Amino acid sequence: MSEKNYKLNTKLIHAGVHPDPTTGAIMTPIYQTSTYVQAGPGDHKGYEYARTQNPTRTVLQNALAAIENGKFGLCFGSGMAATDAVIKLLAPGDEVIVSNDLYGGTYRVMTKVFANYGIKFHFIGMQDANNITQYINSNTKMVWIETPTNPLLNVIDIAASAAICKAHNLVLVCDNTFASPYLQNPLDLGADIVLHSATKYLGGHSDVVHGALIMNDAGLEERLRFIQNSCGAVPGPHDCWLVLRGIKTLHVRMQRHCENGKAIAHYLRSHPKVGKVLWVGFEDHPNHDIAKKQMRGFGGMISFTLKNDSMDEAVAVLKKTQLFALAESLGGVESLIGHPATMTHASIPREDRVKNGLVDSLIRLSVGIEDIDDLIADLEQAIG
Ligand SMILES: *Cc1c(COP(=O)(O)O)cnc(C)c1O
Repeated sequence: MSEKNYKLNTKLIHAGVHPDPTTGAIMTPIYQTSTYVQAGPGDHKGYEYARTQNPTRTVLQNALAAIENGKFGLCFGSGMAATDAVIKLLAPGDEVIVSNDLYGGTYRVMTKVFANYGIKFHFIGMQDANNITQYINSNTKMVWIETPTNPLLNVIDIAASAAICKAHNLVLVCDNTFASPYLQNPLDLGADIVLHSATKYLGGHSDVVHGALIMNDAGLEERLRFIQNSCGAVPGPHDCWLVLRGIKTLHVRMQRHCENGKAIAHYLRSHPKVGKVLWVGFEDHPNHDIAKKQMRGFGGMISFTLKNDSMDEAVAVLKKTQLFALAESLGGVESLIGHPATMTHASIPREDRVKNGLVDSLIRLSVGIEDIDDLIADLEQAIG
């Protein structure tokens, strides 16, 4: 049977990975080298210099392509390095339409770095994908979506966004970090580029910072590979190896993240001190129908507010949890708790974030894979 026909749970372990040709090692070795010896000038085995290519990275790139149902994968030193590479496809005067509820670092690189290079970004609500159309003009080149969004867990219709992009010849970029390939495959729904912060669910163990792009179009791949090599934001082989090891258990981890996430979302919803609970799996989530259509499960990311919406109340909860560690990031086996207003989204002006629902008491959970009873007991004692 060809690798292409394997189901995801098999691909996660086997796709792109072959026993090492020199020793038969079942796990891809860490090729810790900067250069490769040539028999004569230009007479080499496809590897010349390790910024351009590294065998550990090649295996990971192929594995990532396979699990996102794409033809090509490219790895970067971080999710932001991957983001940086995608925006470098653009030129001064170009415009990008971006979902307004997105990772703070993405907002920051767009507004504080690339805006200075003459690229214009429109941040808009996309819960109704048709909103995109109003902002398209002759300079528009790209649409950038994140779904589910961070930290408000909004859902954007990928297929509807892709249809608009196709009609106007725009590149659709989808940040799939929150869902991971286990829950959602944006290329299948018409996206052109899938972006991952592999630091999160793909790595899965809070031990590596890494980014990836996956695509089907050979022209796009060539341009992005050129940027990857020219700008040089490549990951080291050890980091590639950690992500390669991480994705082998993505399906078993995600299954538990989803189960624990569901239990905690329902627990929080019944808590008298909790205000809103944002979780994609609730039937009354405004875009639950789209979530059901494009996702295979609802994940372990939950945000909630307190009935008493104050910074102080939120900080008191954050300080009291013992199992939920107060930290940036998400998607690891350990449960994390965070305060977007002062942590991940501190770079967004208060006025802008509150307008979008990112209020002072909003708390974000990345539900890990510990025992659910212990997790709920921890929240119970912290919220009081
Ligand atoms: C973390 C994150 C990023 C940035 O990735 P890094 O690996 O931290 O550079 C981008 N998008 C989303 C949704 C993220 O959560």
